[in-house]
Amino acid sequence: MAKINSCFQDLKREYIFPIIERKTDELKQNHPNASIINLGIGDIALPLASSIAKAICQGVLEMQEKTSMKGYGPSDGYQFLKTAIKENEYKHLNIGADEIFISDGANTDTASIQELFCQSSIVAITDPTYPVYFDSNIIAGRLKNILFLPCTKESRFVPLPPKEKCDLVYLCTPNNPTGVALNKEELKAWVDYAKAHDAILLVDNAYAAFITSSDVPSSIYEIPGATDVAIEFKSFSKSAGFTGLRCAYAVVPKGVFAYFEDKKISIHSLWKKRQSIKSNGVSYPMQKGAEAVYTKEGQKETKSQVVSYLEQGQILLHGLKTLGHTCYGGTDSPYIWWQIPKGLTSWQFFDILLEKCHIISIPGSGFGKSGEGFLRLSTFTTKDKAEEALKRIASLNL
Ligand code: PLP
Repeated sequence: MAKINSCFQDLKREYIFPIIERKTDELKQNHPNASIINLGIGDIALPLASSIAKAICQGVLEMQEKTSMKGYGPSDGYQFLKTAIKENEYKHLNIGADEIFISDGANTDTASIQELFCQSSIVAITDPTYPVYFDSNIIAGRLKNILFLPCTKESRFVPLPPKEKCDLVYLCTPNNPTGVALNKEELKAWVDYAKAHDAILLVDNAYAAFITSSDVPSSIYEIPGATDVAIEFKSFSKSAGFTGLRCAYAVVPKGVFAYFEDKKISIHSLWKKRQSIKSNGVSYPMQKGAEAVYTKEGQKETKSQVVSYLEQGQILLHGLKTLGHTCYGGTDSPYIWWQIPKGLTSWQFFDILLEKCHIISIPGSGFGKSGEGFLRLSTFTTKDKAEEALKRIASLNL
């Protein structure tokens, strides 16, 4: 008799997206002409940059020719893309192209990295959190090994190193859902913690392209010593409109080690092994598209998209503040963390926005206990929609 991995039974978290979909469908049925503004799911709102589209098409055409056809590529990515990433993202840092592993998404990478570590590892996860870190560890049987790091208003939503010893620490900066990014000093405290406790930092930096604050590093490796203790995850999804294309990368430095008994094992070698077993890589045209992000035209086009999302963030942020609301984030990320009026749960406030303003948001409680009392707004939208959303919110007279 086939038996399931019983850890799936431990996934008790409320699945918010099906509930949001059901509520949105109900609204559409009751108000077929409603013009719904989606500030919920963090998906891109602008079309693919033409330089990237051209490079992908060119990649497909190459595959049509006998002399340049392609079959399976390397499981950890083509050298041309690794070199482009090294040259453009890590030129000034001590990271080699062979420490970069191309993948189909930061989601896949951040969910899979825990497979390298012992089941009894103690794992620190922020609360609220991007749910993938928690769920992937639950499925791996670590229900009792999670240490939550509360991120509250009092600590600027920044997770602080705990007194307890942890083995793995997930950090997401700039953060989804709070929109807040860790500065140099805050990241240094984590590197020091990792060194002191032989821990490994798993740093999800999927929103690096949105950083505007001068004291926020665009890579953990700007912190001295981080190449010994940190793995970084980046993605082309939000920085270059790849959510529907799929291309990302993990940086696993050769200086990161964990233990088997008292023997030091290279995490870089283990990840390479894991990837070669579980992945046949990302398609050639997608990697050509990702390479094109670093061309002059690609940079111009993708940067202007990021600037546009940040501008919509500023419109929403300033508009909400002018209406007397308290909001965080939005400056170094495409998310606004909106403190909801007292006396309402985040689901109740979600319902008010949906039913009265026809605006989709995400209730903070969907990201963890400490998310209650907040709502996440995505700034992946257009100027007219951001302005229209504000008008509707203003009419609520909250
Ligand atoms: N990490 C964070 C923090 C995210 O918010 C997301 C997507 O929303 C991802 C990773 C997933 O990125 P990708 O599209 O590269 O899988």
